[in-house]
Amino acid sequence: MPEAKERPILFNGPMINAVLDGVKTVTRRALSARSLKEIGYGVQLGECHELPADGQVHPNSANYYAELCPFGLPGDRLWVRETFALLGNEDGVCVDWNDQVQKGDERRAARIYRASCSVGDYGLWQIPDQADWKPDTKNLQYEGTWRPSIHMPRWASRILLEITSVRVELLQHITIGQICKEGLARSMYEFKPVTQAFDAFAELWNSTGGDWDANPWVWVVEFKRVMAPAMGCNYQGRHFGASYPDAQCVDGFLWDEDSCDEPGGPLLHGGDIPCPQCNTEAHASYLSEGCQP
Ligand SMILES: [Zn+2]
Repeated sequence: MPEAKERPILFNGPMINAVLDGVKTVTRRALSARSLKEIGYGVQLGECHELPADGQVHPNSANYYAELCPFGLPGDRLWVRETFALLGNEDGVCVDWNDQVQKGDERRAARIYRASCSVGDYGLWQIPDQADWKPDTKNLQYEGTWRPSIHMPRWASRILLEITSVRVELLQHITIGQICKEGLARSMYEFKPVTQAFDAFAELWNSTGGDWDANPWVWVVEFKRVMAPAMGCNYQGRHFGASYPDAQCVDGFLWDEDSCDEPGGPLLHGGDIPCPQCNTEAHASYLSEGCQP
């Protein structure tokens, strides 16, 4: 079996939230001119059938098309690019969540994602208090600029997807069930009447620069969200009672930096708190368990 690959994919804010909520598990992307050309070569070489005008893809060619999908094959992974920002001080120097200057190390900077922030007073962005990727944000607001999703580096991504299936389809062959899975509803009964689902999806498609009426061939990429393997990161924070950052991430869990017997020795205390930066989902459930009565 070939090795699983990892590629970036862009989503807008509403779709990011639908993925985070588990409502969105499929995305459609129009075939590029290049992909259509590649299929054309396949036809010339007698390796596949032409894409049929009626949209009924020949079963013997479905796999051939899928192999050409630029987003990957089942088992491959997609890391999501979204609009984000790194927090900085008045001089524009990055700071971490404890307001410590992080000169020259953007990875250590506190990071916010626009899809998880809402606009509050004076048009400033409110950083959610309960965000799982940061410890304490009471009354914090953001007035800086955002970095467009296209410029998000791999290390700043918080969402990893695993492709579960890939196929080629005509856009307008989408079903109501698939429209729900595109992130528009938890159930078809949220659409009244049910056929309104098609208008809603056409609107979504057109809002991202597509043309519903043109009925293009699309890649249908189904996916599930997966957690990145906890490799450990540069996270630093206050978790063990000190007035300075006293926690260090080791393999996705926090350890008390003050718990070694000798300088540089092994850390003896910790390992129970999931890292909020690289083990975010576990950290979120750790926090919510702590809130149970
Ligand atoms: Zn970490």
